Amino acid sequence: MRVPLSLTTSMAGYLTGKKLSGAQKFPLVMMLEPLHACNLTCTGCGRIREYKSTINEMLTVEECLKAVDDCGAPIVSLCGGEPMIYPELDRLCKEILDRKKHIYLCTNGMFIRKRLKEFKPTSRLFFNVHLDGLEKTHDICVERDGVFREAIEGIKAAKAAGFLVTSNTTVYKETDIEEIADLFAYLQTLGVDGHMISPAYSYAAVMTKEIFMSRDEIRDKFRQASKLLERYNIVTSPIYMEYLRGERELMCTAWGNPTYNPRGWKGPCYLMTDAHHATFKEFIDNTPWEKYGHGRDPRCEDCMVHAGYEASAVLGGNKKLGDTWKMLTWTLSGKMGGLIGEPSERELQAKQNGHANGNGHSNGHGNGNGSAKRAIPVAPSNQSQDEVFRIL
Ligand code: SF4
Repeated sequence: MRVPLSLTTSMAGYLTGKKLSGAQKFPLVMMLEPLHACNLTCTGCGRIREYKSTINEMLTVEECLKAVDDCGAPIVSLCGGEPMIYPELDRLCKEILDRKKHIYLCTNGMFIRKRLKEFKPTSRLFFNVHLDGLEKTHDICVERDGVFREAIEGIKAAKAAGFLVTSNTTVYKETDIEEIADLFAYLQTLGVDGHMISPAYSYAAVMTKEIFMSRDEIRDKFRQASKLLERYNIVTSPIYMEYLRGERELMCTAWGNPTYNPRGWKGPCYLMTDAHHATFKEFIDNTPWEKYGHGRDPRCEDCMVHAGYEASAVLGGNKKLGDTWKMLTWTLSGKMGGLIGEPSERELQAKQNGHANGNGHSNGHGNGNGSAKRAIPVAPSNQSQDEVFRIL
């Protein structure tokens, strides 16, 4: 199975219930940002820049839970900021799990080892660790040395303790897909259960526009990625991947991935902010959905991110004959924590090397530095790690 059975059955039951009730707009994955503070200043991150003036604000656990209940989505993606620095994260997770939801705890991995003992392994909780390349590349993207190594130590500790772990990779213009294949081969040797992958979105608050891709560039990049990454347990749906390769069109369904943070329900989507709404109902009712999406708003022109289009794929937008069968075989053909098929030279070498410093692409592709060749001017951020902890 590509994902735990509990996740497949819970999502199938939820979708059936919603379709039978005739609901038109309903969420699949709630993006819950209890805080925006972070211990890192990643180059492509819009949050720490957009929410600079409220970076020291936090939701209470009760506010988070009310939002989870109002929203009703079966999956909660806990993100931020860095959720692992949220003081009551253990209580928050326990309460959400008690509601029979699944949680993707999206983290940079720096505090997994420190806080692991606060959690219990379950098929409903994933540590979803953000990794944008091998060691050199990733540390450049997050603008700090040592982050990759600590995230890897966190992954190892979580797997040793019996937790589910996924990786989450954002693809930028200069991302070397061969390097991402090497990263996945390496993560597979650690028993990582699945991999998410999505193109970056060009946030208005991020000054370094040259790192983002146009629609055509995204399609080229994902045509290359699909072939190279098909052996790994990719948890991004096959229909969304077809969209990323330019093989089908989808329309944005941003209401499928609503975002709640200390300022309220962020509309219209995880990426753009035109309003913050006080309640989930106001967010759904008052957002002019027909104005957003490719061809409708210039800010949506090059957006193909999962927060806008993965829900469209799951909900059967622009449905084609055979889609249901495709989704079913895709779910059953996956292998959590393992490789689909026999190991290739790349995987054998990853196993033999036992490390991932970005200097040794298994097939000799790329320069081993990934985007280390980039000299990206970074948007100013005054937030140091010490400051984050002073805030908290
Ligand atoms: S296409 Fe959808 S998800 Fe992307 S920026 Fe526009 S509204 Fe947001």
